[in-house]
Amino acid sequence: MKRIKIDRSKCIGCLTCVSACLVSHDSADSRNRVVLSSDFKFSPIFCRNCDLPECVYTCMSGAMRKDSETGYVTYDKNKCASCYMCIMACPYGTLKEDKATKKEIMKCDMCSHDPDGPQCVAKCPMAAITLEEVK
Ligand code: SF4
Ligand code: SF4
Repeated sequence: MKRIKIDRSKCIGCLTCVSACLVSHDSADSRNRVVLSSDFKFSPIFCRNCDLPECVYTCMSGAMRKDSETGYVTYDKNKCASCYMCIMACPYGTLKEDKATKKEIMKCDMCSHDPDGPQCVAKCPMAAITLEEVK
């Protein structure tokens, strides 16, 4: 499977990755973000599709699921109870609720609808986020 790899040293905080995510999902909420870390460096925050995903372990409704074929963690909003357990459990702070209804969880789906793959990666002008093959 491919995972998103982040090189903080290359990030200039332009937020092109955030815009690309909004456009790709035709959404008012992004599934990624860029924060300023305690050492005043831009720090892109993205889902890591963990091998041991706390969001899946804590999701009681089965909305978060680890796909054994692709290795990605998927989210099914139809099963979601909006309890926010996944948001609280994610050790990387990547998840958040949607602004409008506060019922849907904004979870990276690797732009699975787009044959060109994750648009944050495709559009980053600094190659600060790239795809790497992992086993
Ligand atoms: S597009 Fe690239 S350089 Fe710009 S904020 Fe995102 S990760 Fe950083
Ligand atoms: S949402 Fe958080 S815990 Fe779940 S796979 Fe992504 S990084 Fe891991």
